[in-house]
Amino acid sequence: MKQNIYARCTGDKNRMCLLCNSHYLVKNPIETNTFCPDCFTESRKHELTRVKHHLHRAEKAGNDATLTINQWLKILDYFKWKCAYCPNGQFEVLEHIVPILSGGGTTSINCIPACLSCNRRKDSKLLIDKLSKYKIEQVKQQLIDIAL
Ligand SMILES: [Zn+2]
Ligand SMILES: [Zn+2]
Repeated sequence: MKQNIYARCTGDKNRMCLLCNSHYLVKNPIETNTFCPDCFTESRKHELTRVKHHLHRAEKAGNDATLTINQWLKILDYFKWKCAYCPNGQFEVLEHIVPILSGGGTTSINCIPACLSCNRRKDSKLLIDKLSKYKIEQVKQQLIDIAL
């Protein structure tokens, strides 16, 4: 499933909002599709850039790349825009529970908000020791629940 997030280069100015699917017009035909004026916020635009970046990374690695901006914003809301692993950590990075290098995809059941310190622990493969396996399983289950 390919998201309609890239400019369509047809010279037309019609776009369909990625969040509410309503049609809107852009001033310049080369503008990429984002959100209608009702849905647009700087932080959503920022998250869209983040999602695109990680879709690209997963695609390049040949992994699943299906996370939509809708799903990602739902996941962020669910975790209150905080780290999904630790109670006081701020959301600083999009974390792949199974890293892209290990075959993990940029998908709604593999991506969570995390603080840098949890993310680094993951990179150094110490995450499983420091954050219990139970916590990771719990987060995985939460992601499945959000997707329903
Ligand atoms: Zn909209
Ligand atoms: Zn954390």
